[in-house]
Amino acid sequence: MAMKHFTIQDAATMYGVKEWGYGFFGINSKGHLEVYPTRDENLSCDIHEVVTHLHKKGIRTPVTLRFPQILATRVTELNEAFHKAMKEYDYEGDYQGVFPVKTNQIKEVVDHIVKAGYKYRYGLEAGSKAELMIALSMNLHAEALVTCNGYKDESFIRIALLALKAGRNVLITVEKMTELPLILKVAKELKVEPLLGLRMKLNAMGSGKWESSAGDHAKFGLNTQEILDTVDTLERRGLLDSVQELHYHIGSQITDIRKIKAAIKEATRVYAKLVKRGVPLKYLNVGGGLGVDYDGSRTTFHSSMNYTMEEYAADVVYTTKDICTQEQVPVPNLLSESGRAIVAYHQVLVVDVIGLIDTTHTKYRVELSGQEPQILKELAYTRDNISVKNFAEMYHDAITQKDELITLFNLGYLGLDDRAKGEILFWEVCRKLSRILSYKSLKYIPEEFQDLNKSLADKLIANFSLFQSMPDHWAIDQLFPVMPIHRLKEKPTLSATLCDITCDSDGKVEKFIDLKDVRDEIPLHEPKSGEPYYLAFFLVGAYQDTLAMRHNLFGSVNEAHVIVNEDEDFRIQQIVPAQTTDDVLKSVHYDPDELVEGPTRRRKISANSDANEALKTALTEQRKLHTYLEMN
Ligand SMILES: *Cc1c(COP(=O)(O)O)cnc(C)c1O
Repeated sequence: MAMKHFTIQDAATMYGVKEWGYGFFGINSKGHLEVYPTRDENLSCDIHEVVTHLHKKGIRTPVTLRFPQILATRVTELNEAFHKAMKEYDYEGDYQGVFPVKTNQIKEVVDHIVKAGYKYRYGLEAGSKAELMIALSMNLHAEALVTCNGYKDESFIRIALLALKAGRNVLITVEKMTELPLILKVAKELKVEPLLGLRMKLNAMGSGKWESSAGDHAKFGLNTQEILDTVDTLERRGLLDSVQELHYHIGSQITDIRKIKAAIKEATRVYAKLVKRGVPLKYLNVGGGLGVDYDGSRTTFHSSMNYTMEEYAADVVYTTKDICTQEQVPVPNLLSESGRAIVAYHQVLVVDVIGLIDTTHTKYRVELSGQEPQILKELAYTRDNISVKNFAEMYHDAITQKDELITLFNLGYLGLDDRAKGEILFWEVCRKLSRILSYKSLKYIPEEFQDLNKSLADKLIANFSLFQSMPDHWAIDQLFPVMPIHRLKEKPTLSATLCDITCDSDGKVEKFIDLKDVRDEIPLHEPKSGEPYYLAFFLVGAYQDTLAMRHNLFGSVNEAHVIVNEDEDFRIQQIVPAQTTDDVLKSVHYDPDELVEGPTRRRKISANSDANEALKTALTEQRKLHTYLEMN
């Protein structure tokens, strides 16, 4: 029987790259992963070549690759989506977005976004004083907005109002009633008329993990009465013209377009009623929440979404216009604060696999001589006789026998050799059972066996820290696509889960994207000795960099910014070196000089001063190196 060749199409289907890759990623004829930063098939480069090139220059994995052209593509796509929808529905207002700095504050990232957004008068949103300082430093279009959300104290407000006075379009969103008197006080003192937004609490909720961002109990926003009170206060002070924006944010990663429509409907009604009361609102800010389809399934699952960016823009524009027409008020200029959807795609984390944990003893098989203790003979009998007809019963036998094996060992009746043989026999039973369960003829698989494959999965150890590089996978079960960046013409032989190199048993990836469900393991290749095996995690550009934790003192990883040129060529625009061991030690208050001198000074080990000197040299060298393993 001729075996069908494993092709790159098979690999594409296996890893779902066409679905989640959204035209930014694909597989080339070499079986390597290819990036298309403008989603144009004529401009691309080979990610494996980039990683090999970096490796030769001493930039080791784990390495973060940033593709600035992807950022520019996303900024353009978002703005064009709104412009197109506005044209289509004859919308008489404008679109003017702001990028929420909190989704990725890295300087180069914000720089690229601002540059790409200049012609769209794209602005920035800040949620803290530090983020406001970033926003004010950027070279924005003169008409671009800087919006200030989040809780604010007097100095936050003072900076915002001084920047306004100095000519920047800084808009302060009132999140809480107590902020208003502070804003009015500082504004009076500085003799400046503030630009204000009102953040409202909507009844419409987001869904999934960020549901609590909206509704009556939301942390932020004003309820209906508070909005009315604020408007009255401002009117009494003759400052009604300051209220330019109505704002809401119902949470991040809204998976269901119906929630988005419900929110915009409710918000536009509030807008219209306020306009009719004489509030001269100019902007309706629909907040963030535009999702990213991490698993490519286009469903309402938490790591997916059931709409596209174009549909999102069209629905927001259409609904706003529809309700304004009903209410007979002019349409507002629309403002949105999409962060995740702008930055998620541009960042890829490449890691090398450093080994395999053979939990199930795949490399071993036991042959009995006949002299072994009874319990081993029983396990061998189970192994040799388990079949389609009796697998449930035989599997229960095997479990009892394994328990007995351990009991006998603990009581001192068995030696280490016997215990080892017994354990191997047990896993042989499990592997045979797994093959039986995969027979197509089997109509019904009892529930107790459904997790069996999970326990038989191979564990690959990858050189990275989950806590540093993908904290959201640990914290909120967010799924990120992962796949090899090479060997994609070769059929994977392992069904594996991943472990990181932290000493934390939570430092693992055992949930993977799938079009229908969540997978417990993914097909991967057996690492070849002497040859690196690289995996990449995708769509990690939003939120992960600054949520990162230094668990086990693994610091930030090497970073390369890659520009793709014509003819499949690329240029490394910038390298940001990983945090050194020195950096992370200082971050927890150690003096690295002391750490080098200390161990050699404390004892007078005159007998072995050579070792002492060598230790000093080794420690001194490590100070300058990154915190990860160097395996190849
Ligand atoms: C976090 C946040 C955003 C960004 O949300 P995304 O879902 O990442 O687009 C926008 N606006 C506010 C007020 C936020 O807090």
